[in-house]
Amino acid sequence: MGQAKLRGTHEKRVEEAKAKILALKPAYIECNSCHHHITDVDVMDTRTLTGIEAMFGGLCPTCKKPTFAIKGDPEAVATLAEVMSGNDSGVIVGSQKIS
Ligand SMILES: [Zn+2]
Repeated sequence: MGQAKLRGTHEKRVEEAKAKILALKPAYIECNSCHHHITDVDVMDTRTLTGIEAMFGGLCPTCKKPTFAIKGDPEAVATLAEVMSGNDSGVIVGSQKIS
């Protein structure tokens, strides 16, 4: 038989994935509209988005416009940004680097 190692339970992997995303969370997102620093940053659910590692969003307290920051495969990020800014929701997608 193979030597498949049990890599923890499903729950543990979910916890680890969450911790990984939280570790990526920036202290703030810069508003794409007025460059105000948005410090109230939300973690978005990206589990169904292929190639996206993490996405964060926040509402600018100054101009009230939402800005998102996305991390992942460059092509997937570009596609998602296009989809999100392509509708009439007024969403502006950030191209900020998350390191
Ligand atoms: Zn703003």
